[in-house]
Amino acid sequence: MDICKKVWNYIKKDVTNDNETKRAAVIMRVFSLIMSAYFLFQGIFMMLCGQWSCAAVEGIFLLGYAGAFYYTYLNRTQMTLFCMLHAALAWVLLSVFLFGWEFGSQHFLFVLLLFFFTASHRSTGYKVGMAAVLCMLRLLLWRYACLYAPVIALDTFAASVQQILNTAVVFLLLTVIIVLFCQDTLVMERKLVAYNEKLREASLRDPLTKLYNRRAMLEYMNELIRNLRRCGEWFDVAIGDIDFFKKVNDTYGHEAGDAVLVYIADMITDYMKNKGEVCRWGGEEFLFVFRGINGEEAAKELEKLRFMIERSEIFYKDQRISVTMTFGLDEYNRNRPLDDTINSADQKLYMGKKSGRNRVIF
Ligand code: GH3
Ligand code: MG
Ligand code: MG
Repeated sequence: MDICKKVWNYIKKDVTNDNETKRAAVIMRVFSLIMSAYFLFQGIFMMLCGQWSCAAVEGIFLLGYAGAFYYTYLNRTQMTLFCMLHAALAWVLLSVFLFGWEFGSQHFLFVLLLFFFTASHRSTGYKVGMAAVLCMLRLLLWRYACLYAPVIALDTFAASVQQILNTAVVFLLLTVIIVLFCQDTLVMERKLVAYNEKLREASLRDPLTKLYNRRAMLEYMNELIRNLRRCGEWFDVAIGDIDFFKKVNDTYGHEAGDAVLVYIADMITDYMKNKGEVCRWGGEEFLFVFRGINGEEAAKELEKLRFMIERSEIFYKDQRISVTMTFGLDEYNRNRPLDDTINSADQKLYMGKKSGRNRVIF
C-alpha cells in the first residue's frame, strides 16, 4: 500500500515550468506507463509466437514510452506529447499493415483523440482539425485492410489474444484519461467553491471582532423584512455605543481599546444567541436585531446586557478596564422604511448620551 502511494505521488509530481500543467503531465505519465506495459506484453507474446523481428520493434516502442515517462519530469511535456502521439500513430499504421484489421489496434485512434484533447495546449480549432485527420486516417486504414491481406497472418488463438488485449488496453486508457481529467476539474471546482465561500464570509465579517459587518447586517435585515411579509414576525433594532471609548484609547492605548472591543463583541455575541443577531455597525458601535419580541421585551433584554457590561472587568496587560454602553432602541414597523427605524434607534442613542449615558432609551 505504501509503495503504491509512493508511486502515485511520483506520478503526481508537479511540473516546475510555468507554461506546463500538472494535469497534462500526469495524464502523459499514466499513458506512457500503460503503453510501456502494453508493449512489454506484446514483445513477450511475439517472442512466444516466434516473431522475433516484431518483438524487437515492440521492444523499441517499449523503450520509447519508458523514455517518454522519464521525459515528462524534464518540463518538456508538450514535446513529449508530440512524440508519444506520433509513436502511437506509427504503431497503429504498422500493426494494421503487418497483422490486418482483425488485430484491433486501430481503436487506439480513439484514445489518441481523447489523449490529445485532454493533454495538449493547442487551440480548440487545431484539436477539431486533428479529430478530422484521425477520422480520415481510420477510414483509409479500413480501406487498405479491405484491399490488402496482412503481411503476417495470425492464427485464431493469437488473433483472439490480440483482440482482447487491444480492446482492454484501449478501454483502460480511455477510462484512466477521463478519470484523471475529470477528477482534477472536480477537485478544482470544489476548491473554488470553498475559496469563494471563504471570501464571501471574509467580506461579511469585521476582521477585529469577527462579528458581522454593516453590509452583512443590512443583507440580514432586508432578508428578515422579506420573510416578515410571509410569516408576520416582527423585530426590533437597537444601536449600542461604548461610552467614552476615546478615553479608553487615550488612557490605556489603542491596543487595549481593541482588546475591549473584542471582549465586548464576544460577550454580546453570547448574549444574543437565540435572540437575534448583532454586528459591528461602526468603530465602537454595535447594531442589534431582536427577533420575535416587542420593543418592551427587547428593552428588558438590553437592560440586562447593559448591566452585564457595566459589571464586567476587562483585563489587558495587568490593567483592569471597565466600560459602559448606551443603547437606543426602536421597533421595526412595516409602514416605514428600515432606514427610519435605524435612524430612530440612533437618535434615541443620542438622547441616551445626552441624558447621562449607560442607559437604554426606547
Ligand atoms: P461617547 O460616549 O460620546 O460615545 O464618547 P466616545 O469617546 O466613545 O465617542 P467618540 O465617537 O468621540 O470616540 C469613538 C472612538 O472610538 C474614537 C476612535 O478612535 C475609537 N475607535 C474606533 N474604532 C476603533 C477600533 O477599531 N479600535 C480602537 N482601539 N478604537 C477605535
Ligand atoms: Mg462611544
Ligand atoms: Mg460612537
